[in-house]
Order: sequence, then C-alpha cells, then structure tokens
Amino acid sequence: MASIFTRLSGFFSGYEELTDEFYEDLEETLVMGDVGFEATEEIIEELKKRVAKENIKVPDECRRLLSQIVEDRLKEKLSKDDYDFEQGKAVVLLVGVNGVGKTTTAGKLAARYKRLGKKVILAAADTFRAAATEQLNEWAVRAGVDIIRGTEGGDPGAVVYDAIHAAKARNADILICDTAGRLHNKKNLMNELKKINNIITSEYPEAVKETLVVVDAGTGQNAKEQAKEFKEVTDVNGVVLTKLDGSAKGGIVIAIESELMIPVKFVGVGEKITDLKKFDVTGYAAALTGSEELLKKEEEEKKEIASRTTTYETIDGLKEVVIGATEQEKEDAFAFFRSLRKD
Ligand code: GDP
Repeated sequence: MASIFTRLSGFFSGYEELTDEFYEDLEETLVMGDVGFEATEEIIEELKKRVAKENIKVPDECRRLLSQIVEDRLKEKLSKDDYDFEQGKAVVLLVGVNGVGKTTTAGKLAARYKRLGKKVILAAADTFRAAATEQLNEWAVRAGVDIIRGTEGGDPGAVVYDAIHAAKARNADILICDTAGRLHNKKNLMNELKKINNIITSEYPEAVKETLVVVDAGTGQNAKEQAKEFKEVTDVNGVVLTKLDGSAKGGIVIAIESELMIPVKFVGVGEKITDLKKFDVTGYAAALTGSEELLKKEEEEKKEIASRTTTYETIDGLKEVVIGATEQEKEDAFAFFRSLRKD
C-alpha cells in the first residue's frame, strides 16, 4: 500500500472540482492513513469552512490549506517547555511494549545528546528480556557512553537506583533508562513503573523526569492504543514514533495528538544511530500533503532572489538594496558608491 504521504501528494490533482466525492475520497484517504475518524472529521469540517471563507474553487489549492490545518492542529498541542528536560539534569524513562524500538531509541537518544556535548548514562532496566542488556550495551559502545547494567532477571528498580547514583557521581546530564515493556499484566506494569518513579523522585529530586512512550508507526491504531495504555498507568510526557520510514500509516501522529493530547517529540526513521529526529510539525504537515515540493520551490525562489540582491553601504551609512542586478551592474553600483565615499 502506498503511504499516506504518497497517496495525498497525488490526490489533489486527480480532481477538477470540489465535489462531495472529493471530500469523501479525502476522508477515506485520511482514515486509511490512520489519522483516526474523529480527527479526520474535524479536519474535513475545518477544510470546508476555510474553502468557503477563502473562496477556493480548485482542489489543488486545498493541499496548502490541509497542510496548514494539520500544522495548526499539531502546533496547538505543543508547548514551549516540551524539550526543557534537555536543558538541565534529566532522567529519561523509555516505556513501551517489546519490539517497538525502545532499546534502539535509547541508543539513538544517547548518541544525540552525546553529540550535543552532554554527559549521558544509559541504564539497562529491562532486566526481563535476555538479550536486552546486551543489545543496549552495544548501543552504549556505539554511542560512546557509559552504561549501568543489572543482573538478568534482577530488580529493574535496583538498576535505576544504581544508575542514578552513578549519574550523580559522574556528574552526568542525562540518564536514559530502557525499561521492560510487558503489557499483559497492567497492574504489574503499573506497580513496576511506580516503583521506578518513586526511586527517581526520592533519589534524584533535582532531575527533570521525562517519560517517553515508544510506539511503532507501522502498527497504526495499535500504536495509539499502546500509548493510551501507558498514559493510563504512568505520567507520559511525550511519544517517540519509530519506524516512520517504513510506515504506510504516518497519519497516526495526528490521531495520537488529537485523541491522547500527548505530543510526538521524536520520530525514528531508520535503524542507524542517527535515524532519530526531533518531530518537525511544519515539515510533517508539508510532507503529508505533498506540499513539501511547494515549500522547497518557495525556498529556492527566496534563495534566488537573495542571490540577486545585494546590499551596499552608502556614504551616509544607509543600505542600498539592488534587486535583480547582474554581476556587472553590482560591480558598477559598488564602484559608484566607492566614488561617492571619496568625495
Ligand atoms: P524493543 O524491544 O522495543 O527494545 O525494540 P528494539 O530496539 O529491539 O527494536 C526492534 C527492531 O526495530 C530492531 O530490529 C530495530 O532495528 C528496529 N527499529 C527500531 N527503530 C526503528 C526505526 O525507526 N526504523 C526502522 N526501520 N527500524 C527500527
């Protein structure tokens, strides 16, 4: 199945008029792309309103409008302190079910903060899965950061406790904890996370606690359900949406933010250590609707105008702007201003 990104980018040019069929097909495309029924209906309503208000007649013009609507919706959910945990001492707790990409994300985040000049420590608090600690250890080596490990089958709380004390002793900026994700017993999971949270609060009160739920974009609506379940058992500050690179269902970002009110903070776009991006709302909305090309074109136009624009300092310190000048004309203008200065 083509991704929602591809489907939407080719969608608008397939219609000549803004008929009911156009809106129905658009609705279907959004729902198929996992935007979710509720959010889709709201988006279509808003689109119709804006089309009437702006007197739009051509379907292709809806592309920019849709992109804007999606961007506005997502921006509403953002807060300026979403990434505050990156500034001071922080403990990042990664939660999520097995296989979504938690350990990989822990490694990618460690590398990201290391690149930003921070001292990072990884904690292998997923003591249940046999290979998890080994796997995290490989990421720690790759990222060039320290790791605190426990014994297999041991107490995850004890690993977090040790890791906090190591973080303090080594003056680390960010402690990233990979946890076990077992959802089959909600009560167990809740108790375990509560225990870990209590340890962080009592042992490291000065650190900002950031809990990120990791979900796999490829699982569509399941990703949203998982995020919801974790939100029910612990305080979740954000979502990491992995495997967006291979996903046909990128619309899940909108469903998660609309229905759960949790911002998507990072997206995984591959298996490499650098394949983790801060979620970029504008870029996402543009890519979703195929407006990316338009944005690129505008950017190129701006650059082109800038390349034809020169500022010169005149004799009285003012700036002269010459637009559209050829190289020769710019040289002449320069010479002219220089000659003025001589007088
Ligand atoms: P965990 O069980 O949640 O810790 O999941 P892992 O970190 O072990 O990842 C499970 C699989 O997903 C591994 O094969 C990863 O390479 C892969 N994976 C993780 N993130 C991404 C991503 O953003 N894109 C792609 N294509 N694969 C990913």
